[in-house]
Amino acid sequence: MTDTKKYGFTTTILHSDRQKPIEHGSLHKPIHTSVTFGYRDARQLAEVFQGKQPGYRYGRQGNPTVSALEDKVTKMEQGLATICFSTGMAAIGAVTQGLLREGDHVVSSSFLFGNTNSLWQTVNGQGIKVSMVDATDVKNVEAALTPATRIVFVETIANPRTQIADLKRIGQLCRDRGILYVVDNTMTSPYLFRPKMVGAGLVVNALTKSIGGHGHALGGSLTDTGLYDWTRFPNIFDNYKRFVPAQWGMAQIRAKSLRDFGGSLGPEAAHHIAVGAETMALRLERECATAMALARMLEADDRVAAVHYPGLASHPQHAIASELFSAYGSLVSFELREDIDCFDYLNRLKLAIPASNLGDTRTLVIPVAHTIFYEMGAERRAEMGIAESLIRVSVGIEDTDDLVDDFQAALNR
Ligand SMILES: *Cc1c(COP(=O)(O)O)cnc(C)c1O
Repeated sequence: MTDTKKYGFTTTILHSDRQKPIEHGSLHKPIHTSVTFGYRDARQLAEVFQGKQPGYRYGRQGNPTVSALEDKVTKMEQGLATICFSTGMAAIGAVTQGLLREGDHVVSSSFLFGNTNSLWQTVNGQGIKVSMVDATDVKNVEAALTPATRIVFVETIANPRTQIADLKRIGQLCRDRGILYVVDNTMTSPYLFRPKMVGAGLVVNALTKSIGGHGHALGGSLTDTGLYDWTRFPNIFDNYKRFVPAQWGMAQIRAKSLRDFGGSLGPEAAHHIAVGAETMALRLERECATAMALARMLEADDRVAAVHYPGLASHPQHAIASELFSAYGSLVSFELREDIDCFDYLNRLKLAIPASNLGDTRTLVIPVAHTIFYEMGAERRAEMGIAESLIRVSVGIEDTDDLVDDFQAALNR
């Protein structure tokens, strides 16, 4: 695929490895396990180190198998460049490690993945201030901005309660103020939504979830969309200003976050994720259709007290989701009527597995307040709208009828 024709999502991902030199005709990018890369000419090694010519030096900073995956993610997000990390959390941590300094301020959505919530508490103790706001309304974000605000951070569909940030207006606000807008796209994935459309400067993806898709490799990524003007960012070290400004952010993140903190993605995991990514569109079509059917069944049943799914007309941000996303995602969460014990209910399910991953091929269920959101305590859970009986469902690729029947039968039993 060397022509410049615009292809669809899956065609582009499938053929992306063949746009670079192909090793022995291999259809998959080979798994390069070498930790270091040797050169016959010592001067060439020096030039690679100095960034004067492309090449690999040491596996912590880059690897050909990982680069091939980075290219794929860049294409998915229609961005400028991507850096992969060992996990999604390593990617989010890289934003704070590589770009923030003591005294800086972050405004974050308060509706967040539990470990990101915990990370904000950690950095709050390290001289960086994080304000948590209800980001479903841009006014709350605007009110929290200070002259020290460097980053606004939101998720697309919040995990697990499915609130949707005021994505477009926050993007406009960040553009007007020159603030870096970081969007965690994990719950939508680049197949359903590209945060570049709403002005994001950096996009986070937990590759562990829908992109890898089979629950068999951890990974994360940061993509520079090319929209942010890095000359407006005060924390770029002079060292990285020798590149053109469009490259400043990624140059600094690759050195200050990936190299210095070492959360590098391994080549084997990169290979698994790249293979998984080939079928992402096919998986998500099925998962989103099943999630919709499941949400409708649950909403119609009077033993269910509440259902949270952006595809339902009753969802408070249904209109935003319909406008921006090509489907409503594979996460459904719901609350049972008070007289039904959520553990008993989960134990009656025959197909859905109690486990904590998302975006897996198999449907997974978890009682949120008692597991992933246990550590934060009841008060913070209440602030985040997490009911004690909330069940999160990560809908897999099982046949739709089998899955909906499983949830219905467990209500009947
Ligand atoms: C899972 C997840 C992460 C973290 O990814 P890991 O690979 O588990 O570290 C970050 N953000 C969101 C929204 C997630 O669901």
